[in-house]
Amino acid sequence: MTTPTETDLTTEQRSRYARHLLLPEVGLAGQRRLLRSRVLVIGAGGLGSPVLTYLAAAGVGTIGIVDDDTVDLTNLQRQVVHRTADVGRLKTESAAERLAAINPGVRTVLHSVRLTAETVWDLLEGYDVVVDGTDNFATRYLLGDACALRGLPYVWAALFRFDAALSVFDATTGPCYRCVHPVPPAPGSVPSCAEGGVLGAMAGVVGAAQATEALKLLLGVGRPLVGRLATFDALDGEWRYVTVAKNPGCALCGPRATILSRADVADAWVEACSVDAPAPTAGHVRPVDLALYLSSRPGTVLLDVRSQDEAAIVSIPGSTLLPLPDLLDDPGVVAQDRPVVVVCRSGARSARAADALRAAGHPDVAELAGGVLRWVSDVAPDQPTY
Ligand SMILES: [Zn+2]
Repeated sequence: MTTPTETDLTTEQRSRYARHLLLPEVGLAGQRRLLRSRVLVIGAGGLGSPVLTYLAAAGVGTIGIVDDDTVDLTNLQRQVVHRTADVGRLKTESAAERLAAINPGVRTVLHSVRLTAETVWDLLEGYDVVVDGTDNFATRYLLGDACALRGLPYVWAALFRFDAALSVFDATTGPCYRCVHPVPPAPGSVPSCAEGGVLGAMAGVVGAAQATEALKLLLGVGRPLVGRLATFDALDGEWRYVTVAKNPGCALCGPRATILSRADVADAWVEACSVDAPAPTAGHVRPVDLALYLSSRPGTVLLDVRSQDEAAIVSIPGSTLLPLPDLLDDPGVVAQDRPVVVVCRSGARSARAADALRAAGHPDVAELAGGVLRWVSDVAPDQPTY
């Protein structure tokens, strides 16, 4: 027996959640349960937007938001939790403000940090369900591994162009992420949405499906997508389902598991991280890979070796200018403890600069293939060329 003062919904809540209260599968008990629930959403982006919005509207009492990124104009095509006025703000803050406007009765906990093998354990603390709205393999393996060791259900999805996949991994009752994806794909072999594009509305379809799975798990109703993998082909308008089973050879949840501790998870994460870093081909990074390359190798210096006059016409954001003659004078001026990607107009000067840096002993130098000209044509067609 619980006392009415603790559990009864207020008049406002009875109105707000009236359509839930009418469902026998939810009702008063289910709504109270949602209000006591805690869901951690990784990424306030394309998938995270519908996930966060629907969980807040549904009255999930505590919603944790993990994202260390800021809102960019290119996000707004699909990340509908943010507005144009939010460009430049932390995604966590922008999303939390929108959720508070939708449902002030929901508490948001902002984790404006990068998800790593170090931060993941504190982040998962106290949550009932984890929903992954990110777009990279390292995060999926890390969350899959950490959730399995913690016994938490992991609501996973992936988007690419017009295709999507969705499942719930719960090693206590079914396969884990690793059962289905035993080893990370080869580095650079899987294009990301940043390279291949994605139809924005797809994120709405699949994110809403993730929110539905999370609510089913919290309410304990229906048949969650554990042991089943749903795929959605938007061009055909078709959902398909594949049964996925526990893999007896699974390194995480099989009888001969090798990923057993936090240290094992950290090692496996480092291995998976290399997938998201596009491998430079013979020391060259393609312009379409540049953003991902830089974000997956924090601290990388983008070194522009053109002249000041050229840089004034067009420059890649975040680049540091060091004209080639100055660099050749003293290659030692470039610190050797950070990776370098050298940029020039079309690739000739960057090759000379890279040679000089390598000759000076720099251990990690790559060149931007095709230089600023190819960056403009492939990545930033609105920028001037010369
Ligand atoms: Zn497994």
